[in-house]
Amino acid sequence: MMKSLQAPWRMPYIQASQKAESGCVFCHLANPETDAEEGLVLFRDRFVLIALNRYPYNNGHLLVMPAAHGADFAALDAETATQLMKRVQQTAAILQKAYRCPGLNIGMNLGAVAGAGITDHMHFHVLPRWQGDTNFMPVIADVRVMPQYLHETWSNLLPYFKELGD
Ligand SMILES: [Zn+2]
Repeated sequence: MMKSLQAPWRMPYIQASQKAESGCVFCHLANPETDAEEGLVLFRDRFVLIALNRYPYNNGHLLVMPAAHGADFAALDAETATQLMKRVQQTAAILQKAYRCPGLNIGMNLGAVAGAGITDHMHFHVLPRWQGDTNFMPVIADVRVMPQYLHETWSNLLPYFKELGD
């Protein structure tokens, strides 16, 4: 199996989200009542939610998505699509500034066959990339047993997102 496809720590996440019948993980995070630190939420308004990926492929792996539940990217209304793309751009700028990364991956996996873990609430992945970083993937995989590491990342990035306006 390719190294980049080994992500067994994502399974509890995927299974948990499939088990949650009454609601979706991302809708829960988009709810203003949900504790931002607990949920690793960096930004949310009525259009867009930005949060850390709880089961990251890389340090600074963020998720940017419409606040409203939905799987059909092609059917997004124009206003949400505009807001969403603006936030993806701002997230890219923040990661470049905060991590000084020479590269980024930005993408959306639509449908299980395309690799989506949570299929019914579309989300962009925005990841900082560094030369040769796939070589230390097994090392950073340990973040799954270090929840405080994610909270440290959240605290470091939060000031950047607090500066975002409408
Ligand atoms: Zn949802």
